[in-house]
Amino acid sequence: MTHRPRRPIAAILLAILVAGCAPTSSPKPSAVDVAPSDGTPSASVAGLPCDATPASSGPSSAESPWWRDRVFYEVFVRSFADSDGDGIGDLRGLTERLDYLNDGDPATSDDLGVTALWLMPVAESPSYHGYDVTDYDVIEPDYGTAEDFRALMTAAHERGIDVVVDLVLNHTSVDHPWFQDARTPGSAHDDWYVWSDTEPHVSGPGGNEVWHRDGDRWYYGYFWEGMPDLNVENPAVTAALDGVAAYWLQDLGVDGFRLDAAKHLIEDGSTLENTPQTKAWLQGFRDRVEAIDPDALLVGEVWDATSVSSEYVRDGALDMTFAFGLAGSTISGVRFGDPASLAVAQAEVDAAYPEGGFASFLTNHDQDRSFDQLGRDGPSAKAAATLLLTGNGVPFVYYGEEIGLRGRKPDERIRTPLAWDANPPGYGFTSGTPWEAMAEGVDTANIAAETSDPTSLLSRYRALIALRTAHPALRDGELIPVESSVPGVYAYLRHDTTETVAVVINLSKTPVSDVSLRLESGPLCGSMTATTLLADGDADGVGPLAGNATGGFDAWAIGSLAARDSLIVSIEPSAP
Ligand code: CA
Repeated sequence: MTHRPRRPIAAILLAILVAGCAPTSSPKPSAVDVAPSDGTPSASVAGLPCDATPASSGPSSAESPWWRDRVFYEVFVRSFADSDGDGIGDLRGLTERLDYLNDGDPATSDDLGVTALWLMPVAESPSYHGYDVTDYDVIEPDYGTAEDFRALMTAAHERGIDVVVDLVLNHTSVDHPWFQDARTPGSAHDDWYVWSDTEPHVSGPGGNEVWHRDGDRWYYGYFWEGMPDLNVENPAVTAALDGVAAYWLQDLGVDGFRLDAAKHLIEDGSTLENTPQTKAWLQGFRDRVEAIDPDALLVGEVWDATSVSSEYVRDGALDMTFAFGLAGSTISGVRFGDPASLAVAQAEVDAAYPEGGFASFLTNHDQDRSFDQLGRDGPSAKAAATLLLTGNGVPFVYYGEEIGLRGRKPDERIRTPLAWDANPPGYGFTSGTPWEAMAEGVDTANIAAETSDPTSLLSRYRALIALRTAHPALRDGELIPVESSVPGVYAYLRHDTTETVAVVINLSKTPVSDVSLRLESGPLCGSMTATTLLADGDADGVGPLAGNATGGFDAWAIGSLAARDSLIVSIEPSAP
């Protein structure tokens, strides 16, 4: 595909070095002296770390699917940017503001640098959120037209941004013409939905009623009565949904889909999720989508335990699923200063998912905002961002997360308009009145204020995304846990055949000192040069690093870290 330019790595690295990626006290990344070789095996190839575990490296990027390298950004179009003053965000507003997300110029460092978008539903819907569709082939009029959508796709692709859209296959709106027709027994669309002549008396996991009365019959609607489940086992429904996918891929040019409620597609009696029929249907859908566009991404919402959500990827039903378990552990690990549970969750996703098969995130549009879950604490939000953007999933940032946008449920309050500046009433989002009241705190938590502050959360997100873009090991290297001498410090390496990056985070709520790291065995050897890429505090305590005889290191002094401090260090073999 010609529309997937990759940012030249060298140019980005230069931009980082020029801009300085450590926004706090260190004006520049500082090289750290290392000890001379201590005589450990010197099997290193010139310019490359010697590799004690040959099977440890990921596939080369040439073999990787395009999304593996990306940083995604989840956009709620209604709340991103309003172009016409009606208070409702729209596609033209998003297109006009794309430079904020990625200006397509590797030489600049004042854009966020994301390389893919997930748009929450943009098809016609009577609701504000769009998850109950009335016409899959029509753009929601509040958001614009098909031409506006194509213009967005063109502008995004010009900047190296690919776009996937939410596709809601499980259910429609009750107002969809298919369902209105289906309400008449024996009609053309009767068996496009799931009906029963007697009340089945089945409850959802939350005790909610999943069968809803309509006249003398009951219809199945897992989430609520306003969203009847489609009967996707009906070949006519499957054919219609295939047509929807073809329209978005071919006529509108999207690069894939985020499949909403993927685990709920086909129920079986009292089993309402994760049925074998659902996985089989998705396998077929994936084959048909790939026949239309071999590069199309299918990332699914399977809100479940890692062991369950990973099955969809292992079984070839989806390309990726969201790692909800890891997301929860990331938030709680930072909130409670608990590296142990985070390490367990990390090991679990590593073991469960095929390489590159999971989407990492902190929160999405169905969860209280991460900034609130983290106690509205800036350093905690930075620590969580470090974990997300140096971790080994494909990261998804929920819009506003990068500025610490606040919000707790109800849902409208976790989906409030993005604050572009500090000027009420529209805060740069709209020249009119925002469709939903702004979040608390936008007088300071807004893009303009944080852009001009090198210590802001936004500046940290920009620096972290730039680092991830510049360092292949951060994108698809192996994640190797590292032991810390101090409880509360979480540390790991990201390692591929070309480089190694160490990530160290003090998750505890107190400063720590005399931190040293140990890796019993690993892919390193000989003497190495450690170069600080990002540091919250003073990185002078980072000592020399010498490998041991088993490819690890016995005691690497890191020094002191303030509460929630992050430290990211590049490790390279010393010149012979
Ligand atoms: Ca508008």
